[in-house]
Formats: sequence, structure tokens, C-alpha cells
Amino acid sequence: GSIAAPNTWACQRITCLQHHNPKLTTALEVLEKHAQLRDGNSDYSRALAFRKASCVLKSLPHTLTDIHQLRGLKDIGNHSAQVIEDILEEGFSNEVEEILNDPWFIKMKLFSSVFGVGSAIALKWIERGWEKIEDAQNSNDITSDWRVQWGLAFHDDLTSPVLRQEADNLLEVIREEATKLLPGVIVEIVGGFRRGKMSGHDADFLLTHPDEGSEIGLLPQLLQRLQKRGFLLAGQAEKNSFTPGVLKKDFKLSMKGQLDHFEKWIGIMKLPKSFKDKHTDPSSIIMPTPGSDPIDGSLDYQPSRKKAKCGISGLSPWELSRTERAWCARRVDLIISPFSQYYYGLVGWTGSKHFNRDLRTYSQKVLNMKVTSHGLFDFTKNQSIPAHSEKEVFDILKLPYHEPWQRNC
Ligand code: ATP
Ligand code: MN
Ligand code: MN
Repeated sequence: GSIAAPNTWACQRITCLQHHNPKLTTALEVLEKHAQLRDGNSDYSRALAFRKASCVLKSLPHTLTDIHQLRGLKDIGNHSAQVIEDILEEGFSNEVEEILNDPWFIKMKLFSSVFGVGSAIALKWIERGWEKIEDAQNSNDITSDWRVQWGLAFHDDLTSPVLRQEADNLLEVIREEATKLLPGVIVEIVGGFRRGKMSGHDADFLLTHPDEGSEIGLLPQLLQRLQKRGFLLAGQAEKNSFTPGVLKKDFKLSMKGQLDHFEKWIGIMKLPKSFKDKHTDPSSIIMPTPGSDPIDGSLDYQPSRKKAKCGISGLSPWELSRTERAWCARRVDLIISPFSQYYYGLVGWTGSKHFNRDLRTYSQKVLNMKVTSHGLFDFTKNQSIPAHSEKEVFDILKLPYHEPWQRNC
């Protein structure tokens, strides 16, 4: 028989990392990835349809055995239903198998795994006839984007999963240094690790202080301290660009809805290999920094040409990546939130990405409210509503509170 229809919105449902239908969701997420790579950022409706279906299956309390158990569920489109049916009946989906064996898909996935490379650049590389990462690494005519240069040089490091233990150890280092600069500072691991993942593609940290305004100027000083201790490899800082007006403006849901206005540092750090397998006393860690160049007052730390020497050691990213080293390059995001926006920021930076997207669409369509990482604007009351805890964000949105590990859609 058919099961009770779960709630319509993903943000109303509980979605855990471990669920009963991994075979089906893995297949649907291959189709999602394929659609993302094919359509780019301009049109994500096809990719979204597969993600929505996968998300419904993740929230089912049992393993799906019959397609009829999905009757009446609006998030399962025809295309997804067909794929699910094939797998239930044949054990596999031809369409998914073909994608997995498609040389174009394999190359697109490989190239877009480089930090700073999206589907547009990946496509260009394929058009040049490149097949392997080495083809891009060996090219002299490479983009000036610092992310791509470092992403290519450290591709092996950056595509090996960041472990929870590494993120926990780095959290202690960041907390220690940030607390010296600003006692009472709050530092939280966000992103996938907060949702309970044991590994991820990066480590995300959200910082704030209850005394609003005291967080201003923290990031550059924190970066300087981390630089002194040898943790920085390359990165770019962005200034805070939030103005209260943006809360009520741009009531438009797009891919750009992912971007926020917080002050942040997006970069690559050097984490000791010892961070992987043990709890390390953070005070004891000082990375060796051959010829330590101080940051020249600016926040950016991004030698801009492939052959340009890296400020830390006088080596190019490529040369540095080939040296004998006791550290691993890891993607790290540091985000600074004013306290009055913190709980919205915490929800936004905890994710998942699809949870956020669903939350925003739900808020707009059901509540006539716009929610972002900075706050919430109620268009019916024509005012913004503050939140003083994560639970309050859910209350304002008339949602049952779900713990971070229940937001893995
Ligand atoms: P992984 O474990 O692979 O890193 P993740 O869920 O942590 O997965 P991230 O890309 O690190 O994914 O993003 C963490 C969360 O922060 C996501 O929910 C995402 O929606 C949000 N996020 C990421 N980048 C931005 C950004 N520039 N502006 C606003 N929110 C962002
Ligand atoms: Mn992350
Ligand atoms: Mn991130």
C-alpha cells in the first residue's frame, strides 16, 4: 500500500545522513550532477528536480520496494520516477550507467573538482582536448585566477576528504588565537561537519561576539596570527557588504541567493598531517615557515601568477606542492557575523545547501517572508524579525525545530 505522504517541504521533514534508500539517492544525485554540469548556473531546474526526489527518498522511514509507495508525492517528477522504477525492477538504471561511463561527464567531474573551476572553465578545458589534471597543470597558458593555480598545484591534497578530526583540531587553533584577540568570541564549526558528516570538501567556521561591533577588525588580525604560526597558504578576504536594505530588496530566488554579505576569508590552509589522527595540543603547533614574509597590511594572500614566487617560501605553488612536507593543503572558509545576524547566519552556513534553498522558497511562498543568512523580512508586517537562537529562527518560520544532523537533505 502507499505510505502516508510526508510533509511537502524538505525543511519540514527530518533528513539524516544515514537513511534507507542510498542506492536510489546515489543514482538520482548522479543525474543531478550531470544536469548541473550540463546546464551550468543559468538553469538549475533540472538538477533541482533530481535533488528534490532524492531528498524525499532520504526522509522515508523504510526502504522503497515498490514505485506505488510514492503515489501522490509531488516532489517525485516523471523523470525521477522512471529512474526509480528501473532500479527497483532491474537493479540498475541504463541512463545512470551511461552517464557514469560518458567520457564527457567523467572529464567534467574531474576538472570541476579543481578549486575555482566551474562548469564553464571545465568545458573550455575539454574543448582544448585536455583529458587529465596533468594536462592543465602542464599548460603554460593558464588562467590568472589564484584559486585555479593553487587548486591545480594542490589538487591531490584538496580532493582528499577533510576529516572531522582535522576540523576539530583547527577549531581549537582558531579559537585559541581568536580568543587572545577578542575574549568572549564565539567560534563554531558550521557546514557539513556541524550536520554530523565525518568528512567534507572543506572546513567552515563562523565567528561572532555577543558585544556587537567588537568583531570588526578581528579577521585581519586573526589571519595575521594564523600566518605567523604558518597555517596560511593562499586565500582571499572579502569585506562585509551588508546594508539593512538588502533584506527587503531582491525578493528573488536565484543561484545568487547562495551568496551572502558577511566578511569572510575563502582560502587554503596548511594543516599538519598529525591533525588527521589525533587530538593535538593547539598551542604546541607552529608550522615551519621558510623565510616568513609578513602579510603586507593587506588581507589578501594570493600570489597571482603561476610562476610568481609564493610569499611564504619563495617557491611557486607548484614547486611548494612538490616539496617534502609534513602538512596537507585544506580548503577553509572563515566567516564573521555581527551578533544580531548570527542565528540566521548559523542556519545559513549549517545548510545543507538544499535545505537552505527549500527554506527560502518555503518562506517566500507559504509565509511571504524572505529569509537569508542576515535575517528575515516579513512582507506582510513590512518589518524584519530578529532571532536570538537557532530555535527562534525555526519558530518564526513556523517550522518544527530540527537539529543540524536532521538537515541533511
Ligand atoms: P562539504 O562537507 O562538502 O564542505 P558543506 O555542506 O559544508 O559540504 P559548503 O559548500 O562548505 O558545503 O557550504 C556550507 C554551507 O554554507 C552550505 O549550506 C551553503 O549553502 C552555505 N554557503 C556556502 N558558501 C556560501 C556563500 N558564499 N554564501 C552563503 N552561504 C554559503
Ligand atoms: Mn563545507
Ligand atoms: Mn565551504
